Amino acid sequence: MKYKRILLKLSGEALAGADKHGISPDQLVQYTQEIKNALDQGVEIAIVIGGGNIFRGIQAEKSGVDRVQGDYMGMLATLINAMALQSALENQGIQTRLMSGLQINQVCEPFIRRKAVRHLEKGRVVIFGAGIGNPYFTTDSTASLRAVEIEADVVLKGTRVDGVYTADPEKDPSAEKFTNISFGEVYKRGLNVMDMTAFTLCKENNLPIIVFDMNKEGNLTKLVKGEDIGTLISE
Ligand code: UDP
Repeated sequence: MKYKRILLKLSGEALAGADKHGISPDQLVQYTQEIKNALDQGVEIAIVIGGGNIFRGIQAEKSGVDRVQGDYMGMLATLINAMALQSALENQGIQTRLMSGLQINQVCEPFIRRKAVRHLEKGRVVIFGAGIGNPYFTTDSTASLRAVEIEADVVLKGTRVDGVYTADPEKDPSAEKFTNISFGEVYKRGLNVMDMTAFTLCKENNLPIIVFDMNKEGNLTKLVKGEDIGTLISE
């Protein structure tokens, strides 16, 4: 096993599947299966899931909701996704804990670093919901921060694209994929891996990021075993 402890970042949008909104049951089952297979290899798994399929803070201003209020709505959206994922994992017999950046005690535990680490050591999948609990941040930043806090070996950013390209491969057919790239090079080329806050946190703490296609069956397990999938961003 290449990694002992991973932080998996999934976007909310990906959870919507073909519908582009809400939660797709098929997508949920597929993610759950991938996570279960990786867990069976003996790796410790923490997960941050976004909320873009339900609500984004940025959207709010258009509808007359102020930015901060919108961000809190976005955080609650991530919690809805996290609850769905938790149930789906539990249906597969996986032990889980949901820890929240906002205090919602009837539904989940508050985030306490030492507790999170303990859960992971016991083989539970820990899902971090409600972001870091502060507006003006994203779930990518949550992923970086929590990964650093729990001393994860790597942030695995599961997307619909199979890595980092010289340009957006969905728009530019001549775009080429990187297998490895340094933090500095990503910055210099202005490549869009994560937002700058999230990216800088990984860079400053020398925490590698792997961008990979989460929709391709078996990719997550291959990654934890150390196969070269997607793009590795490191120092
Ligand atoms: N958000 C926030 N603070 C956080 C995490 C999330 O304010 O620590 C809000 C923000 O408005 C964001 C929304 O929650 O737009 C949903 O998260 P994100 O857009 O990162 O989800 P994704 O794009 O991964 O689906």
